Amino acid sequence: MSKRLRRWHKIALLLAICALVGIGIFWAAKPVPRRPQPLATPSIEEDAHWGELRLKMVREQIAASGIKDPRVLAAMETVPRHTFVPPEWLSQAYDDHPLPIGYGQTISQPYVVALMTELLDVQPGEKVLEIGTGSGYQAAILAQLTDRVYTIEIIEPLCLQAAQRLRGLPVQVRCADGYYGWEEHAPYDGIIVTCAPDHIPQPLVNQLAQGGRMVIPVGPPGSYQTLWLIKREGQEVISERIGHVLFVPLLRSTEGLTP
Ligand code: SAH
Repeated sequence: MSKRLRRWHKIALLLAICALVGIGIFWAAKPVPRRPQPLATPSIEEDAHWGELRLKMVREQIAASGIKDPRVLAAMETVPRHTFVPPEWLSQAYDDHPLPIGYGQTISQPYVVALMTELLDVQPGEKVLEIGTGSGYQAAILAQLTDRVYTIEIIEPLCLQAAQRLRGLPVQVRCADGYYGWEEHAPYDGIIVTCAPDHIPQPLVNQLAQGGRMVIPVGPPGSYQTLWLIKREGQEVISERIGHVLFVPLLRSTEGLTP
């Protein structure tokens, strides 16, 4: 091969290398189109983890403390309490105590939710009213037992948040002062009050159906209250004292509504 030809070979090789490097740089710099990302959904492992904690809660805190109604136990096993708890309290979602939900309010202790639900003795198709929606957890438990649940919350941001969480469940949420009940849908087979007034609100008694039950804590704010089971039977209203509980006070109109 002549010297000249070899020189041309070298130049051609050099050009080929440059072209390959150029193509490489072009592909590396070209943005790779992003696939649409799926919405954050909990993994199967995460679901299994929360499910195990829920079973443990029901077995060791709720059934072990004397709750027997299989429908109440099943409801507590089903409703994902961790989705009703603020992120900073997630690790305690299945512990047996109340947790803060903002605005000075709390999601109730799981055992107390189970006890009050058992006392209310809701049958399928019955109409139930809750005063004090809070996180929406108690309402979600009630919605496992009947498809007619009404709930009232006085603090608007909590009310709107709970309404969002409860979407898809047979629960109607109203942002108002629950002292007056919800006349439009009365009478109710069950009324459950999850904040404590210092007396039994007469409008709630009036909105109880014949044979209706009301579970309500009554007492002064800031100290233990008495939990009452009230039944309307004919002309009579029968009250049974259940025990002591600690609830946030029932607020009136706009008192104490700071975040
Ligand atoms: N049942 C709730 C716990 C509620 S804590 C749950 O499962 O998370 C008590 C709630 O009652 C608070 O959110 C408080 O804002 C609400 N509340 C207090 N007074 C009220 C009133 N007059 N009417 C309606 N809700 C009231």
